[in-house]
Amino acid sequence: MFKKVLIANRGEIALRIHRACKELGIQTVAIHSTADANAMAVRLADESVCIGPPPAKESYLNIPAILTAAAVTGADAIHPGYGFLSENAEFARMVEEHGFTFIGPKPEHIDIMGDKAMAKDTVKKLGLPVVPGSDGVLESLEHGIKVAKEIGYPVLTKAVSGGGGKGMKVIRKEEEFEEAWNTARREAKANFGDDSMYLEKYLDKPRHIEVQIFGDGKGGGIHLGERDCSIQRRHQKVVEEGPSPVLTPEQREYIGSLAAGVVRQLGYRGAGTFEFLFQDNEFYFIEMNTRIQVEHPVTEMITGIDLVTEQIRIAAGEPLLVQKDNLRLRGHAIEIRINAEDPKTFMPSPGEITQFHAAGGLGVRFDSAIYAGYRIPPYYDSMVGKLIVHGKTREEALRRLKRAIHETVIDGVKTTLPLHAWIVEHPDFVAGNYTIHWLEKQLAAIKAQEEAEAGEKPEAA
Ligand code: ADP
Repeated sequence: MFKKVLIANRGEIALRIHRACKELGIQTVAIHSTADANAMAVRLADESVCIGPPPAKESYLNIPAILTAAAVTGADAIHPGYGFLSENAEFARMVEEHGFTFIGPKPEHIDIMGDKAMAKDTVKKLGLPVVPGSDGVLESLEHGIKVAKEIGYPVLTKAVSGGGGKGMKVIRKEEEFEEAWNTARREAKANFGDDSMYLEKYLDKPRHIEVQIFGDGKGGGIHLGERDCSIQRRHQKVVEEGPSPVLTPEQREYIGSLAAGVVRQLGYRGAGTFEFLFQDNEFYFIEMNTRIQVEHPVTEMITGIDLVTEQIRIAAGEPLLVQKDNLRLRGHAIEIRINAEDPKTFMPSPGEITQFHAAGGLGVRFDSAIYAGYRIPPYYDSMVGKLIVHGKTREEALRRLKRAIHETVIDGVKTTLPLHAWIVEHPDFVAGNYTIHWLEKQLAAIKAQEEAEAGEKPEAA
């Protein structure tokens, strides 16, 4: 087992990794930008190294600075968390070349899955159902129009190097194709420096269902059930739950074993997630994430397995702790992502947290790195915490979530807690009756109603 792990990340996931290391008896090194000198992970880690100024490019994405910090502190492994360098195959290679262990998959698998067209092609050959679409990259506008006609409108553009919903444009008819295609390519170029695009059939009422997997890198692999992440805004997850309220045990086993089969055939190492859209009882693979995910606690709550500890153990060459046969899913878990944003306009709301109280009690978990007096810097992602609840049934988990939201106090900045309080009361959510488009439709309806009401009011004198 490792003696010292460098945590190449920030925020709640840095703290999460620190906690896993401590429980394994491993020393930790936190790296941070000058904006994060007071971060919780920095305070708690055994050692810390400031690696640069606030912009991520100069700190959390600064590979030479991170490798130097690892060398100076004598770390023997690096955990990349999620985001930043976690899915950068070049980083994974350099980590290994410099004599450290990368706590993550083999670089060649990060490469395959990082190219979304190649990822689709690979898993299709290994037996997964995929969304109908172009076979690989589109060569030109004309090629795109031809393929769109073949698969049938509406279609969705996707960037081969895409992420965070960027480069995705829905095209409903041929006349709209050229403009949408050009916009999508510009967005992809600006965000990923790569404007290679592919096309997919646009599904009108799917759920987002993803399967958590683990591989030992030697042909062993398991799945740990699914998470339903259909409550989204702008293709970003807002609420996640597991098990999915709509899957039958047979469907769970079907898609889980297919995913685990791909893991074994690839010789994949570590944690990963296969993401699917699910519509009319069919699964369609969309992408694989080769890292730990924000919503991993949902799976931890229903399996009792510490996924970050598992990642570290596998990277250290230990065998998979869980064998598929002894996996038992217990109860139901729901996670909400709390962002420091205005709950109506979603404008970021950085600043000082004046008062903070985390919800507690049986079946409640609050994964966050904030504290009273903490100043949320304006440079990074606005997620400030994840509230996760577990119950014997979905009903119990929902009741627990309502009371836990009510208990949570984060003052000084605006947060999306009021939005969550509204979602958990909504009859559709309570019934488990929602698709990936549900939240945006609801938000649009609320906005329209508010505008209509404002219009009816006489002008203030
Ligand atoms: P990214 O990597 O940019 O997040 P994904 O391929 O994971 O992109 O897709 C993100 C989200 O976009 C999905 O969770 C889903 O809500 C929506 N989406 C993706 N593909 C399709 C599709 N073919 N039809 C409808 N919605 C889609």
